[in-house]
Amino acid sequence: MNREQNMPYVLNALERLAQAPSPSGMTGRVEALLMQELQGLGLSPWQTRKGGVLAQLNPGVEGEGILLSAHIDTLGLMVRAVKSNGRLRFTKIGGCPFNYAEQENVTVWTRGGKSYEGTVRLNEPAVHGRRDVETVERKDDNMEIVLDERVHNAEDVTKLGIGAGDFVSLDPRFRRSGDGFVKSRHLDDKASSAVLLSLAHAFKQGEAACARPVYVMFTNYEEVGHGASAGQPDNITDMIAVDMGVVADDLKTDEYKVSICAKDSTGPFDYALTNALIDAARRHELAYAVDVYPFYGSDTAAALSAGRDWRHALVGPGVAASHGYERVHEDGLWNTLLLLKHYLQTA
Ligand SMILES: [Zn+2]
Repeated sequence: MNREQNMPYVLNALERLAQAPSPSGMTGRVEALLMQELQGLGLSPWQTRKGGVLAQLNPGVEGEGILLSAHIDTLGLMVRAVKSNGRLRFTKIGGCPFNYAEQENVTVWTRGGKSYEGTVRLNEPAVHGRRDVETVERKDDNMEIVLDERVHNAEDVTKLGIGAGDFVSLDPRFRRSGDGFVKSRHLDDKASSAVLLSLAHAFKQGEAACARPVYVMFTNYEEVGHGASAGQPDNITDMIAVDMGVVADDLKTDEYKVSICAKDSTGPFDYALTNALIDAARRHELAYAVDVYPFYGSDTAAALSAGRDWRHALVGPGVAASHGYERVHEDGLWNTLLLLKHYLQTA
């Protein structure tokens, strides 16, 4: 596999995935994009009832299957109530700290098919109007969405078709920058989703192969806890969640490495499968780190909690500033793709 030839595909896929809004519960745009992309690679993808997208990368190969999952759903917001002043009270979808959403441009998607832009703000945000802007705690009841519409009261907003239950997506602000960096919201887990698409592309090109059936699954409810809980083929025996590696002061993962997680908040990963991944990374001299993620759960926990008797592991590119304005480096994406390719070659 050649980096110069493959990296443009990875970056192009990542940009298209990142630009398509997909808060958990409103992932249809990305599902359609993936279905089209996988069909374009000559595969026969299918969807679970709740919207997950699956495909076998090596059709016709039978035996004990390997499932590679990444999640396409992201953090987001939802309208909770229209306030009497014409602003919107919101609830969070997934674990987005208020200060990471503050000041962001957003799009409100009405159930009637319209969309409106706005901004997430503190309810009295002008530094010339109050003294405690820097220190006031950001809370559920002092944050709001201000619509870029001439609305003065709840009735004006209701007339636009906006109401409780409407989804709100955050502007991803996708940007390639400097020496191989990509900055965007929702690189968790669109970076890994782009890697899995690129792996599908590599299988198609004959640059990756596996003697066992390999399935990719793009799940769409991971941020709210039940992404990979159901819908996989019966012959799966191993699951590798491909999800963001944690970058933090006392961890070895950085944006240039593929991270192999030994334990997260839900417990340790499968001993033999994790060792096999570490061994593949070492043998092929990849930039990698083995880490323990202190505050983290993944789709493997959803699958195992749902009763799956699978070996499970977690790998992924290092993502900085997770759940905020995130950043990855091309090296981390490339090392993740290589690790999957090398592991599958001898699995
Ligand atoms: Zn994630």
